[in-house]
Amino acid sequence: MKVIVLSLSNFKESDVIYNAISEESSLSFKAYRGQDNKSQYLWLNNPLVIADVEFADRRYKYPTLKEAKLIASPLKGDNQLEYLYSIAAITEIANNVLPEEERHKLFSHIEKAIIALQNNKDHLMVISILLANAARLAGGELEVDQCVFCGATSDIVAFSFADGGFVCRNCLADSMIADLSATQMKLIRYVFKAPNYDCPESEKYKAEDKKVVLNNLVHYVSDMNGVNLKTISNLLE
Ligand SMILES: [Zn+2]
Repeated sequence: MKVIVLSLSNFKESDVIYNAISEESSLSFKAYRGQDNKSQYLWLNNPLVIADVEFADRRYKYPTLKEAKLIASPLKGDNQLEYLYSIAAITEIANNVLPEEERHKLFSHIEKAIIALQNNKDHLMVISILLANAARLAGGELEVDQCVFCGATSDIVAFSFADGGFVCRNCLADSMIADLSATQMKLIRYVFKAPNYDCPESEKYKAEDKKVVLNNLVHYVSDMNGVNLKTISNLLE
């Protein structure tokens, strides 16, 4: 079974309990002596490790790890600060945006985001796309194809997170904040529509615009379900 480790804790002397997601559900499992320096599975003791695991039995509260094969690890040789911050941001999104019983819905997104980062794709874009997908899965889909009020596809002048998407000139109310530039609105649309995490459009946008968009997404998700995504702020400085 393919799993992504989301968090882990010590248990008894050197056992480890892992909280993870598979493609179908959340699950917890245990590794005897998983903290022991002689353990052959020490590499498993990191959030966001992706592994193929087999369990010995299901008699106990937690299934016990029998075998594990590494599929991908967020740890790599030339760890740069922004890479580490990005991995921390993914961990935060994986653990906080969706309720526990729904976290597995992010499985393929987390996997693709990690692989994209390891292939040196633009980290601000990767995190934005992941957060947009997490927001969508949490019920926060935004309208990025037309005016959220009248359906107009031209003369889009604002993006209202409070109202749920693009707003055209006719529907713009005085109370709305139209503080995103045309480029930033285009980038939000791109982030919500991105078919994958390769970010081929990355070069078209400035880092400054990417940060504004990511910052807006963080506030949107925080307002939506009350989570505090504080790790991501490291990427916005
Ligand atoms: Zn309109």
